[in-house]
Amino acid sequence: MNKEAKKYVEGYKAFLAKGKTERRAYAAAVELLEKAGFRDIKGVKRLKAGDKIYRGYHGKTLFAAVVGKAGTAAGVRVVGGHTDAPRLDLKPKPIYEKGGIVFFDTHIYGGIKKYQWLVLPLALYGTVVKKDGKRVEIAIGDDPSDPVFMISDILPHFGKEQLEKKAKDLVAAEDLDVISGLGKVEEALKDRYGIEKDDLMSAELEIVPAGAPRDVGLDRSLVAAYGHDDRVCAYAGLAALLDVSRAKGAPARTCAVVLCDKEEIGSVGASGMDSSFFENTVAELIDREGGGVRDIDVRRALEASQMLSADVCAASDPHYTDSDSIGNESHLGKGPCVIKYTGPATKSGANDARAEFIAALRGVLDGAKVTWQMGELGRAEKGGGGTIAKFMARFGMDVIDFGTPLLNMHAPWELASAEDCWNTKRAYQAFFAASEGALKID
Ligand code: MN
Ligand code: MN
Repeated sequence: MNKEAKKYVEGYKAFLAKGKTERRAYAAAVELLEKAGFRDIKGVKRLKAGDKIYRGYHGKTLFAAVVGKAGTAAGVRVVGGHTDAPRLDLKPKPIYEKGGIVFFDTHIYGGIKKYQWLVLPLALYGTVVKKDGKRVEIAIGDDPSDPVFMISDILPHFGKEQLEKKAKDLVAAEDLDVISGLGKVEEALKDRYGIEKDDLMSAELEIVPAGAPRDVGLDRSLVAAYGHDDRVCAYAGLAALLDVSRAKGAPARTCAVVLCDKEEIGSVGASGMDSSFFENTVAELIDREGGGVRDIDVRRALEASQMLSADVCAASDPHYTDSDSIGNESHLGKGPCVIKYTGPATKSGANDARAEFIAALRGVLDGAKVTWQMGELGRAEKGGGGTIAKFMARFGMDVIDFGTPLLNMHAPWELASAEDCWNTKRAYQAFFAASEGALKID
């Protein structure tokens, strides 16, 4: 890898270490944006070409853009990824004692293999909101002086019966509870954070793996981290947009990124992409660019937009090739992967990008000499998955899934090729930098 690529991957690793939850990834992204001169749209009355703004929602979902010469009404080039990741959420009344051990009762968020979360050092992150609206930020487990948390498992000597079970039944979801101490847990929360037990009812506390990203392999060709899905694409989009903002002159089209929440549970909720956030934000931009906005202008802008649904895909694992769509599988180290459709065997629930858009994209990527690959998510009838693509496609815009391949996706530690991380950023950069004509589809 060249120097620039190495520097990029180090920046990405720092972002991962900081942004272990959607709220923290949001804060880390806003920090980078503000450093590059982006302003919160709230304080901006008028927008013109070249202006750099962001709009946040609930401190979780983020939109950032550089206004293009053609104006936002002409459509947006958007790279959209998500910053939430599978984890264990604390229940509203999480603290209980059993057999002399104090536990945090948890609720699974997103698709996990439960057994992978046993016997790992875990961290606790989140926000507690007191009755008076005061927020208390919690971050325990990643500072070397911090304690960590852990979910226990039965010792092998007595695990015979357990090992006869199906892997999915190895541990019940209700038993996936985290050891938080042997005694004075409530007192410690009060002493250290000024939090009463009842304050935990108005809180969002998340259990995530403790530890920073690590290089993997003697050649350091891989990165192990919690939450590559989908911070690897979200960060790549952000980095590509920062490049746009640093370039001389405004881009031809408005270039934007969306770093959204709730993808892992179906893009639901006000901060998920099945909300009005994106269209409202486009309306906010058009309003500031022209003064007064008609509904039809927003609809036209949405329909004329083009999007890369920046989400990870499953790399072929040589020991599990029975999950691959042989000949259409993606591989580590071969660049980000374009996925025309996700969904299960019948394509139900899929965004099926049109050939014309893929053709234009091929031209752009090859023109910029980006390493990329084309594939399917996995073998038909083996399973499937979805992204935010279909929620954006409903506006009539062209959308395609395009992101970094991962090994052990959704595990506490996921693996990505460092080179692929870099090429993902380069791909999004090429999309933003493409000429008007290159992405024009008749
Ligand atoms: Mn994802
Ligand atoms: Mn996922």
